[in-house]
Amino acid sequence: VSDVRFRSDVSVELIQSVGTDLTVVQAARISTGRDSVPVDIDDWTKSMSEADGLIRFLMKNRHGTPFEHNLFTFRIEAPIFVWREFMRHRIGFSYNEESGRYKQLEPVFYVPARERNLVQQGKAGAYTFVPGNEAQYGLTQDSLRRVYEEAYTEYEFLLGKGIAKEVARMCLPVAIYSSAYVTCNARSLMSFLSLRTKHEDSKFPSFPQREIEMVAEQMEDYFVSQMPLTAAAFREYGRVSP
Ligand SMILES: Cc1cc2nc3c(=O)[nH]c(=O)nc-3n(C[C@H](O)[C@H](O)[C@H](O)COP(=O)(O)OP(=O)(O)OC[C@H]3O[C@@H](n4cnc5c(N)ncnc54)[C@H](O)[C@@H]3O)c2cc1C
Repeated sequence: VSDVRFRSDVSVELIQSVGTDLTVVQAARISTGRDSVPVDIDDWTKSMSEADGLIRFLMKNRHGTPFEHNLFTFRIEAPIFVWREFMRHRIGFSYNEESGRYKQLEPVFYVPARERNLVQQGKAGAYTFVPGNEAQYGLTQDSLRRVYEEAYTEYEFLLGKGIAKEVARMCLPVAIYSSAYVTCNARSLMSFLSLRTKHEDSKFPSFPQREIEMVAEQMEDYFVSQMPLTAAAFREYGRVSP
């Protein structure tokens, strides 16, 4: 019987990134026929300041299409309950996920870390979450770990009896990890970030589940490093997807 492993994190790796802030600028400039004007390397500061102004104009006025001419490909590991939420993002996202029909799923399951709030208060749509006490944390850990170990033991039992993977997996909980390649452009990424992160300064506040927010935060870090002007404008104008 395989050893069951427990994780409290998610991982996001940037596989590739195509395009930069300047791709946004060049795409927008075709409107006025200036897209072939080269970036002024001798006066980089002036070029960047012009790019910054244009990107902020596009973001503020929700001219979104110039943000579609780039792409990010991420390799993400997260529990299946996060993937169920993730794949609701239909527009401009491409997905390829590991298969529970073609391979035996790894015995890796999500358990909340101590800092993850456990108790909800308030009403649907406006919940606040608080840490919970040590006893609540302990019984959550015990309960989840016990079920995961038992479920994975049954999974391997069925596989060992010659049952197909696609049937045996039916006993596994949604906290088992899965991995996928996800590709999107900056506009779709901003739409995802606006819904899947919680920020005081959002024009339209969202209240995502913490685990998908952990994925979104890592994606946003890559976004900031690859497209700093676009990411800054997104934040400045209330984290609204243009
Ligand atoms: C906090 C939170 C709570 C949620 N709770 C629930 C819940 O209880 N139940 C539930 O089922 N889902 C829930 N969701 C998922 C939510 O309903 C969306 O499916 C998800 O956020 C993806 O958003 P989207 O449709 O804008 O994204 P995408 O599918 O990527 O679409 C992007 C944009 O394209 C346009 N678009 C896409 N498809 C269409 C279409 N068919 N017709 C017209 N325009 C379209 C819209 O402008 C849309 O905003 C929740 C999401 C969040 C963030």
